[in-house]
Amino acid sequence: MARVFNFSAGPAALPEEVLQQAAAEMLDWHGAGMSVMEMSHRGKEFMSIAAQAEADLRELLAIPANYKVLFLQGGASLQFEMVPMNLLAGRSVADYVHTGEWAKKAIKAARNFCTVNVVASSEDEGFTYAPAQADWKLSRDAAYVHYTANETIGGVEFHWTPDTGDVPLVCDMSSNILSRPIDVSKYGLIYAGAQKNIGPAGLTIVIVREDLVGKAQPAPSAMLDYKTHVDAESMYNTPPTYAIYIAGLVFQWLKKNGGVAAMEQKNIEKAKLLYDYLDSTEFYRNPVRRQDRSRMNIPFTLRDAALDDEFLKGAKARGLVQLKGHRSVGGMRASIYNAMPKAGVEALVEYMREFEKNHG
Ligand code: PMP
Repeated sequence: MARVFNFSAGPAALPEEVLQQAAAEMLDWHGAGMSVMEMSHRGKEFMSIAAQAEADLRELLAIPANYKVLFLQGGASLQFEMVPMNLLAGRSVADYVHTGEWAKKAIKAARNFCTVNVVASSEDEGFTYAPAQADWKLSRDAAYVHYTANETIGGVEFHWTPDTGDVPLVCDMSSNILSRPIDVSKYGLIYAGAQKNIGPAGLTIVIVREDLVGKAQPAPSAMLDYKTHVDAESMYNTPPTYAIYIAGLVFQWLKKNGGVAAMEQKNIEKAKLLYDYLDSTEFYRNPVRRQDRSRMNIPFTLRDAALDDEFLKGAKARGLVQLKGHRSVGGMRASIYNAMPKAGVEALVEYMREFEKNHG
């Protein structure tokens, strides 16, 4: 069996141990005589899987008791809409920080529901930095403040948590959740699509402070109302059962490996390996301001874009795949989430060094 180092931005690499365990349990989960995929979501077995997954996530992120954890569908993209639908609560303004492609989509969606005040934007420098809080022009009457903790395409990450006082802070954490410790109590709501650092596509996690639930005016239809899913403990309709099971295995893997604090140290090390090399040469370039560089998604360009195809071909031949940058920015992107081992980043840097030697 030849496993590659998969640098995809999402769906992304999963820990090999998790895949092995899922394979071992595929036909018969713990003596149930069936796969988790075949279980009733309301049966005792699956209910225990979902409850354990929630308990482990709560432990990993130290989620306070007054926060609800929801296992939803529809991706982070549906949250772009559910957030304003639910959290405006009769107000007409929401504050958004504009940091790139994903913030832009969140802003566009919110504009269908309210006046969006863009409180800060890094557009002036091609979305290559995270605007300092001192430069945010917060509204006086915003229902909430939304930002994107990690721009998956631009490779810009907030390495600090904004302080919005009494105004709920809402965060799209799709591409860096569980990569580092966070203080959940500083947030009103956190959401994340699972397919990067959590598990398979099809599952979206929402962590919401309970006093923010059920305040929508008018109440959205049932499926779009957080209250429905809180009241039904994410079982209003059939949840993405298999994705929840795999996410649960990932949470156990994280716990076994020292939790998010240990993950953060590994992620710092992995990112440093690649950034240090990028900074040591003129052959490759990362455009992001140093202190805002993402530990998860590292875009880089070759000095000569005519070499891009050859670079990708050579990488693939070595089992280094999915390095092509997002179509909107070109170049390369290495996504190195929790499940990417250090050896994968080392192999990439070694290849890049060699490619430079042969073409520089
Ligand atoms: N936000 C961010 C930061 C993302 O990276 C993505 C997906 N790449 C999305 C939102 C959209 O997620 P989904 O495809 O799950 O709707």
